[in-house]
Amino acid sequence: MIYAKNITKTFGDLQVLKGIDLEIPTGKLYSIVGPSGAGKTTLLQILGTLSNPDSGELLIKDESVFKLGEKQLAAFRNREIGFVFQFHYLLPEFNALENVCLPALIAKKGKKETEERAKELLDFLGLSQRLTHKPSELSGGERQRVAVARALINKPAVIMADEPSGNLDSKNRDDLHDLFFKLRDEFNQTLVIVTHDENFARQSDRIIRMRDGRIEE
Ligand code: ATP
Repeated sequence: MIYAKNITKTFGDLQVLKGIDLEIPTGKLYSIVGPSGAGKTTLLQILGTLSNPDSGELLIKDESVFKLGEKQLAAFRNREIGFVFQFHYLLPEFNALENVCLPALIAKKGKKETEERAKELLDFLGLSQRLTHKPSELSGGERQRVAVARALINKPAVIMADEPSGNLDSKNRDDLHDLFFKLRDEFNQTLVIVTHDENFARQSDRIIRMRDGRIEE
């Protein structure tokens, strides 16, 4: 469960978030939609603890995350939040398997168990033949699935994705969307996804529709 209460954020003179209240139950897929500049990415960055709000509270797994010290917060984020962005941000010098293992090794998990889980995930995502490929040797859809595997490696409380299919063609986009629903249905994975795809949003458990820094009812 993720619980956000009265989140506000201002950049200069511009109040981008004007008091956001939100509850995201475990095992649900919520989409965030709204016009450009509505504050979707800013909200996702705060829910993902990548950015601090000016005020408000955020509980993830009962932890009041902004009360944690910097180091504890970084460890919490690495462990409990999996990120998928429009651009994959895989490390170019590492192969698919190494990229997926990285967050677990940072969390000081054992190499052997990490590799086993990474291989299982890559297999689940249809990438068992791509373990030793570098990102430049993968297709766009494959790269994005490696990024999803990396996001899942630590069994995070939540996956946060910001326009994850924005850079994909329609076939890869549909496959990625199907995958998100499969993660919810088979792993009870909680997901929060910023999207411009209304069709995908309509299939999610709840659409959070933002306008001008607020959630529209
Ligand atoms: P889009 O759909 O275009 O990605 P969005 O709804 O995700 O838009 P945000 O990226 O959250 O919108 O931005 C909301 C507003 O905050 C915009 O006016 C943007 O210019 C401003 N903004 C975002 N980040 C910063 C920043 N670091 N410094 C200054 N202004 C910012």
